[in-house]
Amino acid sequence: MSAPAAIETASLERVREKVEAGERLDAADGLALYESGDLLALGELADRARRLRGGGDEVYFVRNLTLNQTNVCRVKCRFCAFARSAREEGAYTLSPAELAAEAKRSYEQEPFNELHLVNGESPHVDFAWYLETVRALAEALPGVHLKCYSASEIHHMATLSGLSYEQVLSELKQAGLQSLTGGGAEIFSARVRKLIAPGKEPAEKWLEVNRVAHGLGIPSHCTMLYGHVETLAKGSITSSACAICRTRRAASSPSFPSPFISRTPGSTRTSPPRPRSTRSRRSPSRACCSTTWPTSRPTG
Ligand code: SF4
Repeated sequence: MSAPAAIETASLERVREKVEAGERLDAADGLALYESGDLLALGELADRARRLRGGGDEVYFVRNLTLNQTNVCRVKCRFCAFARSAREEGAYTLSPAELAAEAKRSYEQEPFNELHLVNGESPHVDFAWYLETVRALAEALPGVHLKCYSASEIHHMATLSGLSYEQVLSELKQAGLQSLTGGGAEIFSARVRKLIAPGKEPAEKWLEVNRVAHGLGIPSHCTMLYGHVETLAKGSITSSACAICRTRRAASSPSFPSPFISRTPGSTRTSPPRPRSTRSRRSPSRACCSTTWPTSRPTG
């Protein structure tokens, strides 16, 4: 049941005061924004938060190429239509030289200024493969920003190599890596994480990788996958939104809410589990998307 209008307005005003004062929003503020039901006020507040951080009337775009070097993944998230086992039909793994050649071919056809590289977490490669890849890309694409690997992949590299997060990130930075992607954040609630991605590292590890990266001067993003089995009441989305906030404030990179898409043609893997206690959606509604994006601005 939605809250009376007067309470909603009071909640939004409390959030507005914190935004104006430059204070960090907490989970209760995130929940107030989601539950306000006042889309216009939410949009206006999002714009205000953006302008307070220095945004103006100009809008900027990055010309970005996204590549995936391997779709072999050990994790098997239940929402994923991308991952394959090593021997499964459609599985692929490119060598560093093959990937760099493909990136260069794309650049020659249509120049871009940022490369976004994410992969499955393959157990059949080693840390040297990642380092060679970044070196090959840096050599093939001088002047292109290399945004490579999610915090989950950094955790995977640390597991493969036995190195610390700091050692892994330092070596990657030395090889040419400039920022991290936002994948693997999903939803930070342990309950939801266990349902949708039981093989993924806990949220604390994901956040720790980001903290270490920021300490080394490597900015990062945070991508929240929403609209599947999470609930507002349990603070799932809000805890993610607040973590987005922490990540963003520390690293000055944007946060991205990413809607769950219930089915990709030909895939059997993209239906999330349906917990008995929750009426889960097949995909987020238009209203959910319209609320989530502006909510991510003051919180993120
Ligand atoms: S970690 Fe999860 S989302 Fe990423 S490729 Fe593997 S199964 Fe898919």
